[in-house]
Amino acid sequence: MRFIPVLLYTNATFLLASPDPALLAALEPLLLASGARVEIVLTAEAALTSITGHPPALVLLDTNLPGMDPRMTIGQTIGESLDIHRLAPTVALRQARISELLTIVGLDPVHARRYPHEFSGGQRQRVGIARALAVSPKLIVCDEPVSALDASVQAQIINLLQDLQRERAVAYLFVAHDLAVIEHISRRVMVMYLGKVVECGDAKAVVQTPKHPYTTALFSAVPQINPATGARRIILPGEMPSPLDPPKGCPFHPRCSIAEPRCRIEPPALREISPAHFAACHLAR
Ligand code: SF4
Repeated sequence: MRFIPVLLYTNATFLLASPDPALLAALEPLLLASGARVEIVLTAEAALTSITGHPPALVLLDTNLPGMDPRMTIGQTIGESLDIHRLAPTVALRQARISELLTIVGLDPVHARRYPHEFSGGQRQRVGIARALAVSPKLIVCDEPVSALDASVQAQIINLLQDLQRERAVAYLFVAHDLAVIEHISRRVMVMYLGKVVECGDAKAVVQTPKHPYTTALFSAVPQINPATGARRIILPGEMPSPLDPPKGCPFHPRCSIAEPRCRIEPPALREISPAHFAACHLAR
């Protein structure tokens, strides 16, 4: 894959860049429709590299076999990234870099000769991380990287990601439904409902003092180790509406227990409720 989008998120503003104009044209309205601000759109690959200082890379982590070509060995899979970005000019350097990457993620270099089906889910995730690191990216998009793993392997992968972040100063755009994982790994959190940003801010602030009713309901569903805390789970009424035909006004109003008449008419803007903490709710204070 030669053209790849880079999406950086900061303070409710998206910096969207890609050398593919068609991709930008498709993505920009989606981001704008989500209520976010799109600040810069660049189209040159050179400009992408100037932002990140590294070749652009979109990296999706996937524990499923479809995330990797079952006919390619792990060495070939990782080496493909090096080839596309011309990062290994000789066969010896290519092999050395593949071995180095496998070692970094805790796998044995001899694993390079194996095929994806010979690995467990956790090991495949490590291969995905090695493939991501091949281009020395400054941003790794982790799309549900631990959702298919059991708890102990989840912890290993999260620890590996955090170690790599400390050692390599890499940023993660971490997409997940597991709120405990999000709380643990994130510095900033963005909550989306029906494709729109409803809240974003520092992880601690969003978790401890959520401003949007949907965020409050989400975090109330996290199981508590100590039932004596008396935390009450909020059950949202009704079903999630279709994103193809979202409700008018605030898209959350059919399920919101504090909705007012204006919520059915007027879509709430994403507002800064407290420093660097944003919410899209008329009543957020
Ligand atoms: S804008 Fe109204 S309906 Fe939407 S979350 Fe806030 S109170 Fe609920």
